[in-house]
Amino acid sequence: MLGGGQLGRMFALEARRLGYRVAVLTTEADSPAAQTADAVTVAAYDDRHAVEGFSRGVAAVTLEFENVPAAMAEAAASAAPVRPSGRLLEVAQNRLLEKRAVAELGLPVGTFHPVVAEADLASAAAAIPGGAILKTAESGYDGKGQRRLAGSDELADAWRELGKVPCILEALVPFTREISVIGARGVDGDVALYEPFENHHENQILDLTSWPAGVGAETRDAAHAIARGVLEGLDVVGVLCVELFVLEDGSLLVNELAPRPHNSGHLTIEAATASQFEQQVRAVAGLPLGAPERRVGGAAMANLLGDLWSGGEPDWASALRVPGVSLHLYGKADARPGRKMGHLTATGSDVEEARRRVLAARAALSDS
Ligand code: AMP
Repeated sequence: MLGGGQLGRMFALEARRLGYRVAVLTTEADSPAAQTADAVTVAAYDDRHAVEGFSRGVAAVTLEFENVPAAMAEAAASAAPVRPSGRLLEVAQNRLLEKRAVAELGLPVGTFHPVVAEADLASAAAAIPGGAILKTAESGYDGKGQRRLAGSDELADAWRELGKVPCILEALVPFTREISVIGARGVDGDVALYEPFENHHENQILDLTSWPAGVGAETRDAAHAIARGVLEGLDVVGVLCVELFVLEDGSLLVNELAPRPHNSGHLTIEAATASQFEQQVRAVAGLPLGAPERRVGGAAMANLLGDLWSGGEPDWASALRVPGVSLHLYGKADARPGRKMGHLTATGSDVEEARRRVLAARAALSDS
C-alpha cells in the first residue's frame, strides 16, 4: 500500500482478514495505515529509491490516494504489478486530463475550460460567463484549491489567488442531488457495481452518505452505465469511484473520479456482502470480485471531523447506545478542525431509519 491514511487502514484490516500480510509505505511511522500493517516503510512518496525497494518486497502494489506521484507508481511497476496503474493515476490526479478523458469516452461532463496561462482568461470568461468554480488542476481535495465565482469578472482575481497554477474553470452545475457509484474491476475484466450512494457535503467536505440514493431505476441504470464505461474505458484494475451530479430532469454529469475506495463507500463494510475494501483486496490480488449487493434495508454514514474533539475526547458510549450504529476511528492523534478522524455507520430497515440513527448518534457526541 502506497499511502498511510484511513483508506489504507481499512484496506489493511480487510486484507489481513483474508490472510494477507500488508506492507505500507507512508510518510509517518504512526499513520492510520501503519498502525494496522505488518511492515512499515517510512519514506516520501517521491523517493524513487525507497518506492522501488519497497515494491521489490511485495507481490502487488496498490494506492490509497491519488496524490502519490504517477511516476512513482510507474517506478513501482518495474518490480510488482501496480493496481490501479500509474497511467490511471496520472489522469485522476489532474482535473483537466480527467474531464477530457471522461468526455472522450462519450460520457457526460459539465462545461469546462482550461485556465493554464494568462492568455486563457479571456476565452474561459467567454466560454463560461456566469456562475462558475475555478479549481486547481492538481492536488486539490475536499474543496481545497477552489474558488466560487458569481461571474467571469471575478476570474482573473481568483486565478491570481490560486497562485496562477494550471486550473480548470467549471460552469456551476444546478444539481438537485449528488450521488456516487463505486465499482471494482478485476484482472479478468469482470465488473461489480454498488447501487448509487447519495452524498451531502458541508463546506465541500463529505458529511453524510445514505444508501440507496433516492433516485429512480432509470437514473441508477444510467449511473451504472457511466461507471462501467469509465472502468472499462480506462482499463481499471481495482476500485474506482465516480462522483455524479443529478440534474432536475434526472440526467447525470460526471464531477470527478477517484481511482480507489471512497469515503461514500465506507458503509459497505456493514451494509454490503463484500465491502469496497474487500473488492480492492480481491482486485489487487487477482481474485474474483465479491458481491456488491446491499444486505440491509438502508444504511447511512456520518463523518467525524476533528471539530468534535474541541471539548476533549467525545463520549463514544453515547453514540453506540443508538441501535444499529458502528464506530470507526482512524487512529489519528491530532484532532484538527476539518480533519477526518473517523466515521459512524448505521444500518436500518430503510434508508430513513438509518439516517435518523446515524444523525442521532453523532448528535449525542456533541451533546455529551
Ligand atoms: P470536488 O472537489 O470537485 O469534488 O468539489 C467538491 C464539491 O463542490 C462537490 O461535491 C460539489 O458539492 C461542489 N461542486 C464542485 N464542482 C461543482 C460544479 N461544477 N458545480 C456545482 N457544484 C460543484
